[in-house]
Amino acid sequence: MAFAAETLESTPARSMIVVTSPATLQKVAEIPVTTADELAAAEQRGRAAQRDWAKRSFSERARALYRFRDALLDDAERFADVLTSETGKPRADAYGVELIYVCDAISYWGKNAETFLRDERVWPHLLKNKAAYSTYAPVGLVGIIGPWNFPFVLTIGDALPALMAGNAVIIKPSEVTPGTAMFGAEVWRRAGLPADVLQVLPGYGDVGAKLVDRVDMILFTGSVATGRKVAVRAAERLIPCSLELGGKDPMIVLKDADLERAANACVWGGLVNSGQVCLSVERVYVEAPVYEPFVRLVEEKIKKVKQGPSAEAVDIGSMTFLPQLEKVERHVADAVAKGAKVLAGGRRSPAHSGLYYEPTLLTDVTHEMEVMRDETFGPVIPIMKVADEEEAIRLANDSPYGLGASVFTRDAEKGRAIARRIEAGGICVNDAIVHFAVTDLPMGGVKESGIGRRHAAEGIRKFCYQKSVVVDRFGLKSEFNWFPNTPGKLKGLKRVMNLLYRSGWRKRLFG
Ligand code: NDP
Repeated sequence: MAFAAETLESTPARSMIVVTSPATLQKVAEIPVTTADELAAAEQRGRAAQRDWAKRSFSERARALYRFRDALLDDAERFADVLTSETGKPRADAYGVELIYVCDAISYWGKNAETFLRDERVWPHLLKNKAAYSTYAPVGLVGIIGPWNFPFVLTIGDALPALMAGNAVIIKPSEVTPGTAMFGAEVWRRAGLPADVLQVLPGYGDVGAKLVDRVDMILFTGSVATGRKVAVRAAERLIPCSLELGGKDPMIVLKDADLERAANACVWGGLVNSGQVCLSVERVYVEAPVYEPFVRLVEEKIKKVKQGPSAEAVDIGSMTFLPQLEKVERHVADAVAKGAKVLAGGRRSPAHSGLYYEPTLLTDVTHEMEVMRDETFGPVIPIMKVADEEEAIRLANDSPYGLGASVFTRDAEKGRAIARRIEAGGICVNDAIVHFAVTDLPMGGVKESGIGRRHAAEGIRKFCYQKSVVVDRFGLKSEFNWFPNTPGKLKGLKRVMNLLYRSGWRKRLFG
């Protein structure tokens, strides 16, 4: 991968990915696209390497991951260079979001994988004469197709549990941000770890589609439309898939909320990573009695958010992907045309030449506007007044998505009660987005936000198939249900069934 600082002049040929800095619009890298033959060869190498990798114990695999982590920390500055150059994120996010997540996830899976995947003995319900247990085996070769918004967390970060389970992994990063995952694989190799266990194959969507055809399990993060295609192909191949798709996360602010905390959470949760977070605060419902003061607080705070180039001490950087910025513009234009008021932002930043959209606050929004229905994925916070808690819950659930949500109230019990009624995979009470960082909890969506979970036991078991093992305990020459069938056995069977299952008998025997 050659990093250079020249202006992008020509349209990229499909055999090449030209990576452009969204902050400066300069070309930062040219990366050859993986060919079909290279993908086939990578599959063969991955499968061969997986057999040896799976023979290693959990602690050996954990030690390998710890070596990888040390090597990453040694090269953290270069990592931050690559990540910020292709995403436009603040440098602080390279460390404080992406690298810290992967470092901590290495500890988490290194410590917990064996516990989550240990054999589970059961005491058979019917056949008390058998010993029985289930065990987890790696599926083999796992494919990961990642998006551009968190190009390290959602590629290398997602590979960690698959690797700890004993799989080999092939990652197809987004064409927009391929360098970050490639850098991760390069560090893996330099740390002396088996290169074919963790491969990164850059390419466009067609490479992703071909990858689904070559792996034993696929994990996809991205849009609902592409996720659906991946799920259909996985179904045709009868391989498991795990999908984390879009979100339209609601925030509910009740009249008893700590408004200062709620406003801070709203501004951070709506704008962090320029709003390009699947768990962003995408729409806000505020109870009427506190609507005015809450909007005033958010307006004050949003105007203080610092936006600018990665190297400076800024809160948010540029957006990452031009079509996304254009979608944000469409959402805001649609809202304004239908009567929304713009209290802050509402346009591309005139202060920068790159993909900067100003932090934007919209009020007077309704569910007839795209900004309240479709994933905006940009630095836009639309706030809507609601009569009461019931209306807030009804509107929060009025969405095809169900990834995350948040509720602000001083009454923690009420917060928990509302959390039970919201149709989403993860809910924060008096907080925002943070449930992603609690890796001890399963994370994922309902409705069109996806299927499958990352993190916790489910987050590693999905990379395995379960085997059930039954061991005979007594070594008899034959079993009651084996041949031959005789009238005496049939009579005995009827007696046993009556004894076990007829309600009257059970009552008489067990009280
Ligand atoms: P996509 O779903 O198009 O892309 C996600 C990944 O899938 C990329 O690596 C992409 O490759 C790859 N891909 C594209 N087509 C196929 C295919 N047919 N089979 C297999 N893989 C394929 O997301 P976009 O980047 O276009 O973003 C579009 C929308 O998705 C955004 O507006 C946002 O709403 C949502 N999104 C959600 C994210 C989340 O975290 N849940 C993250 C990013 C986006 P390539 O990049 O080369 O096309």
